[in-house]
Amino acid sequence: MDIYLYNSLTRKKELFQPIKDQEVGLYTCGPTVYNYAHIGNLRTFIFEDILKRILSFNGLTVKHVMNITDVGHLTGDRDMGEDKLEKGARREGKTAWEIAAYYTEAFKQDMVHLNILAPDIWCKATDNIPEQIELIKILEDKGFTYRTKDGIYFDTSKFPGYTKLSHQDLEALQEGARVEKNPEKRNFTDFALWKFSPQGAQRHMEWESPWGTGFPGWHIECSAMSMKFLGDQLDIHCGGADHVDVHHTNEIAQSEAATGKPFFNFWMHGAFLNIAGGKKMAKSDENFLTLETTFINQNINPLTYRFATFQSHYRKPMEYSDEAVDAAQNGLHHLQNQVRTLLENTGGKSGTVNAEFRDKFLQKINDDLNMPQAMAAAQEMLKSTISDEDKVATVFDFDEVLGLDLAKVQDADELPAEIRQKVDARQKARDEKNWALSDQLRDEILAMGYVVQDSRDGMKVFKQ
Ligand code: AMP
Ligand code: ZN
Repeated sequence: MDIYLYNSLTRKKELFQPIKDQEVGLYTCGPTVYNYAHIGNLRTFIFEDILKRILSFNGLTVKHVMNITDVGHLTGDRDMGEDKLEKGARREGKTAWEIAAYYTEAFKQDMVHLNILAPDIWCKATDNIPEQIELIKILEDKGFTYRTKDGIYFDTSKFPGYTKLSHQDLEALQEGARVEKNPEKRNFTDFALWKFSPQGAQRHMEWESPWGTGFPGWHIECSAMSMKFLGDQLDIHCGGADHVDVHHTNEIAQSEAATGKPFFNFWMHGAFLNIAGGKKMAKSDENFLTLETTFINQNINPLTYRFATFQSHYRKPMEYSDEAVDAAQNGLHHLQNQVRTLLENTGGKSGTVNAEFRDKFLQKINDDLNMPQAMAAAQEMLKSTISDEDKVATVFDFDEVLGLDLAKVQDADELPAEIRQKVDARQKARDEKNWALSDQLRDEILAMGYVVQDSRDGMKVFKQ
């Protein structure tokens, strides 16, 4: 079945066709590891995971590369301010290397909790410095660079089509941003390829280069590493919506200037997770929510967040609220209960995947990842008259894309002894119509990470 994806480059939904038959090269911009990922960042990584799973679900082989930005991302997007890693190091009294290692691991843990599949290739900016230097040398030889006091810059006026991704009106932009202007830059949009270490100060991360000791600008890493690891398979490049105007625009300019060829065919961007009032959740605000504090430490299954993101289309902003989490928790529990009941009815047996419902589901996911409608298609199947065995097979098939661990819903049947004790006590309280004690025990069980649901068939208990 055809896959249609919204391409930010053309601002249209387009039929997706890989450059090589049946094989897709996918590059997703990874985290800047100076702090925990917040759940906004994680929304983008879930969207990218869904994209990857959908491509595989369609029978394509995906080669997925994700970078780790561990140097060069400055606090101001247009190469102003401080390196976020060095700033993080100062905040915590550690080296930038230690900060990077710690938050990279934390991010990988988040991915595991959210069932985000690991890329085929992880690559760190700091492991690929020679490749970045090589690319800058090519740009220098071709006359795209110039030197200022603080670094080597890319001259964006020499690259026609600089705004082909962002569609920005640069004059209007420049007017509005006067305060940020670096007087040595020839054009407001010029960006650093290589920055010099500040005089008289030793950075934790710095390297020799033909231009002097320093470190690469942020954008060059993604150009160098995507070309190194994907070669000519430059199919899809993703990130959050904030990457359109600067990071991805600059990646395209420097890559196409260096090679003379089009860079990626498809550019896809996930909309923001906002906090109440429409404000973007940002790491620099320091009051952001993490998966650990918001879900795991509250004994809420982190897959609840994955489920929550399916309620909005990835190109629409999503607002975070306690109510949205509650609704997602109810929705996920409902789905888990449906699967649990089916497994009880069939004695754990699975039939065959229903072709008609698979097609319906496929139609929705292949329509630019329409997850809200895909979830509705899943419900339609679960409520249909096909056999329970076939429902089991079909819902497990859909879970290849959903990634909600639906095959594991029965694992919680083996309850830990202390939970079993409380469950039994609650059953006794209910038999004695002691509703107050029953409610109290339900809350205690919940605080221990288990949900109790009363149904016609009796009490059901499962892990959050
Ligand atoms: P960073 O760690 O800042 O490099 O960002 C990692 C990813 O999260 C990038 O793809 C960003 O575009 C994305 N991102 C940043 N803030 C948000 C947000 N509030 N909602 C969704 N995605 C975001
Ligand atoms: Zn990137």
